[in-house]
Amino acid sequence: MNKKYDVIIIGAGPAGYAAAIRCAQLGLKTACIDKSLDKEGKPVYGGTCLNWGCIPSKALLDASQKFVDARDHFAEVGISVGKVSVDVPKMISRKDDIVKGLTAGIAGLFKGNNVEALPGTGKLLADRVVEYVQHNGSTENLSADNIILAPGSQPIDIPPVPLADNVVVDSTGALEFESVPKRLGVIGAGVIGLELGSVWSRLGSSVVVLEALKDFLPMVDQRLSRDALKAFKKQGMDIRLGARVTASKATKKQVAVIYEDAEGEHQVKFDKLVVAVGRKPAINGILAADCGIVPDDRGFLSVDEFCATNIPNIYAVGDTVRGPMLAHKATEEGVMVADRIAGQKTMVNYDCIPSVVYTHPEIAWVGKTERELKKEGVKFNVGSFAFNANGRAMAANDTDGLVKVLADAESDRILGVHILGNQASELIAQAVIAMEFDASAEDLGLTMFAHPTLSEAVHEAALSVSGHAIHMLNRKRK
Ligand code: FAD
Ligand code: AMP
Repeated sequence: MNKKYDVIIIGAGPAGYAAAIRCAQLGLKTACIDKSLDKEGKPVYGGTCLNWGCIPSKALLDASQKFVDARDHFAEVGISVGKVSVDVPKMISRKDDIVKGLTAGIAGLFKGNNVEALPGTGKLLADRVVEYVQHNGSTENLSADNIILAPGSQPIDIPPVPLADNVVVDSTGALEFESVPKRLGVIGAGVIGLELGSVWSRLGSSVVVLEALKDFLPMVDQRLSRDALKAFKKQGMDIRLGARVTASKATKKQVAVIYEDAEGEHQVKFDKLVVAVGRKPAINGILAADCGIVPDDRGFLSVDEFCATNIPNIYAVGDTVRGPMLAHKATEEGVMVADRIAGQKTMVNYDCIPSVVYTHPEIAWVGKTERELKKEGVKFNVGSFAFNANGRAMAANDTDGLVKVLADAESDRILGVHILGNQASELIAQAVIAMEFDASAEDLGLTMFAHPTLSEAVHEAALSVSGHAIHMLNRKRK
């Protein structure tokens, strides 16, 4: 007889571990299988996000920004520090300590909530059976009333640029450099490419970003992406748009990259190259041929709005299914599925998923862009407020960027909020809450915000939708 559970989850990233914890909180007998091992070969939970994604990248982004502040901006506010230098191994080991603390935290939460953590690989067989292979090769079949597939995603590799030991790396490798590369190439000006490029550019690399598309960050509000591109170029990142990489040749010490743009073919040499051209579902080996689930041609598992697959009681969540590849989206899907297995009616509001690029300035948005609204024929009003008129931003010596609020022309309902600026990742939460509660721009305008705060820029942008911002001259008034 197979060991039996109420729920088995394959994958302990933000989707899987959140699902497992919520299932256990709701009294379901839960097991969570994950194959990840840390640098020392010990099982770790937390998936890409905690081990090789959100957390380590933010640890390096925050550390490198502190370096830039000390080197370039302390003097502006009257602090002299002498020559500032970087200790890369220390920075990396601090990052590793943060990761260790958080992944140990997940193991602790599993234990405390009675989630059975199963290190090893899971594979979905027919009839709600999971084959569980431990790291020592020992194999057993487990049964469950419900199965949640949460295997996440992995970097896409492109044939012209194969990874080459320590010279051509993916995002994981770019979190592990032992020193600051003199010349760093990044292929892909997506979120991950820009964040990792920013880290090493701040620490002193000469960074060239090669991006095949002509548009910079096409999913971002056009004004914000234009201003962000200007800011990143000013910081020293050489971002080449319309530059498609077609070939590369790596030696032990450097890599030559060939790319094509409107002017023809070019060659450029780097000491390190980061391939950041996107991610794909990590479904290798997770589905037995007769399990009844067939991935689509891009490797995604098809699900409905409740993350149910075509097989009853089998769900898929997180980066493996449609929607943005974001940790918070993955978590909310995991929690929703757990709740629904326990009979609750939880839903995910896919119209209200915040996105953030953790550069400096940060870019954050939720809802629709002007471009999308125009395409859909929706009439809307725009309010905006620049941080250079915000007292707190001036006090903080960080006034780049603006807040934009888009509201329905008739109902005044907020349809999108777009922020470029310091702390945009934190400020966007206010917009998400407002939109979750169907707020109008007027509702936000009538809400009291503490002074002096960056949040007041959100308030003023909402007021400016009707031409009533206090701290700027409004072009139109209603
Ligand atoms: P994952 O986190 O990928 O977890 C899946 C887990 O399943 C892994 O541990 C994997 O080993 C395991 N697994 C896979 N197959 C099996 C199997 N057969 N058996 C057992 N275990 C298996 N998102 C944000 O929202 N904010 C950010 O700032 C951010 N920064 C990022 C920075 C980088 C450099 C990267 C790479 C990603 C970043 N992301 C960010 C994306 C985020 O990491 C993912 O969206 C998120 O981790 C997806 O969660 P998940 O649970 O679906 O999958
Ligand atoms: P994202 O999917 O947001 O992580 O971004 C990845 C980026 O990499 C996209 O903007 C792609 O256009 C870009 N990209 C993919 N292949 C290439 C290539 N061969 N050369 C340059 N850029 C590429």
